[in-house]
Amino acid sequence: MPKMRRKADLPAKTCAQCGRPMVWRKAWAKTWDAVKYCSERCRSQAKATPGGADGAQP
Ligand SMILES: [Zn+2]
Repeated sequence: MPKMRRKADLPAKTCAQCGRPMVWRKAWAKTWDAVKYCSERCRSQAKATPGGADGAQP
């Protein structure tokens, strides 16, 4: 088996704010574990929503 990584093998998770699936991006290579939201917008919305955040703000 080749060691190449197919697109289908990319990690994916669900945005904690909008619930949309988000697929691994190169920009998240170093922070993937910490990524919870698909966009800055979702992140700020989660901050603005009481009880919506999980308390893991940086
Ligand atoms: Zn989102």
